[in-house]
Amino acid sequence: MRIETKGVHVGEGLEKTQNGDVVVPIHLASTFARRKVDEPTNGYEYSRAGNPTRDVLEERLAAIENGAGGLAFASGLAAEATALFLLKRGDRVLVCSDLYGGTFRLFEQCFSQFGLRFRYIDFHDQELLTKELSEGLDMLWIETPTNPLLRVYDIRALAEAAHHQNPKAFVVVDNTFASPYFQNPLDLGADLVVHSTTKYIGGHSDVIGGALISRDKTVHERLRFYQKAVGATPSPFDSFLTLRGIKTLHLRMQRHQENAMAVAHYLESHELVKKVNYPGLRSHPDHNLAKRQMRGFSGMVSFELNDNAEPVRLIESTKVFALAESLGGVESLIEHPASMTHASMPKAEREKVGLGDGLLRISVGIEHKDDLIEDLEQALNLARR
Ligand SMILES: *Cc1c(COP(=O)(O)O)cnc(C)c1O
Repeated sequence: MRIETKGVHVGEGLEKTQNGDVVVPIHLASTFARRKVDEPTNGYEYSRAGNPTRDVLEERLAAIENGAGGLAFASGLAAEATALFLLKRGDRVLVCSDLYGGTFRLFEQCFSQFGLRFRYIDFHDQELLTKELSEGLDMLWIETPTNPLLRVYDIRALAEAAHHQNPKAFVVVDNTFASPYFQNPLDLGADLVVHSTTKYIGGHSDVIGGALISRDKTVHERLRFYQKAVGATPSPFDSFLTLRGIKTLHLRMQRHQENAMAVAHYLESHELVKKVNYPGLRSHPDHNLAKRQMRGFSGMVSFELNDNAEPVRLIESTKVFALAESLGGVESLIEHPASMTHASMPKAEREKVGLGDGLLRISVGIEHKDDLIEDLEQALNLARR
């Protein structure tokens, strides 16, 4: 089955419910009764360990990422935190330096105190990468496309290099920005996919959630244990909303990409814009890699204004684009990474990766592209110095 069909059907349908519900019911029960002490009904005991609505979501997440198993979490960061329980004191994690700020904060302020050693490196710096790999690793953490600079890393090459050094190392890809519609990291040699389902998978800015999808059944079972033991699971209602989002993922992604391409071209030709970062543009340094690795370029664009325009005035002047953090919903958003999404990253660290104070990021929604461009046009005029 293809992703469009899997996204609509997997886990739901006649065989899944007693009453023939076309849509999975929201099972609110926190606990499940049994007739015999050692015979949980349909395997259900307690909702943190397993819930019928969440199970359908997990089955579908695994299906759309071509994994052996999927797990759902209360947030993307909850999924990431749970994945780190695969590691132990002293383990070394190589991380791409251009990274979601919350992930950086989780690693540095929560997990490094338990003796995990995180190294942030530019995965495009081949010499440095080779040197760091040769010192050993237990996990490689890749975000691609990256946030907010939209760089693209070669998943297949990185996974091969990591596994060559240590066949047991976990290669993790945060696939939030591409979504499973445009990229499936497990097919490219990754071991684990992370999603903030809050973004494209949920797609409507109305639910926080996360996911872990494993290539290997044994890793999946280990993670399932940690999911239950740690307990950062999503509610049945949140599971339902996320499932509902997945049904239209392919339709939304097509429009996100079409609009993002139009907006990126518009910005690139504007006299007040210094630079546009969008993997779909021929001017993007990783355009060819993106074309090879991804089936599309998704809906995130970032750009820098030149000295003749005031970035904050621009983002406070848009009417269709809401000034807000997050991304991947049907509505367009605009934000200032240095003071919003990436404020938790120290300024020195931001500058090292090229994330300047003048950078703006937009999540291009599914509205009419002309309305989006007209909105940017009027805001750019107001931002002129
Ligand atoms: C939002 C985001 C996260 C964190 O997910 P939450 O659902 O907000 O906890 C992780 N990675 C990326 C790339 C994100 O955009």
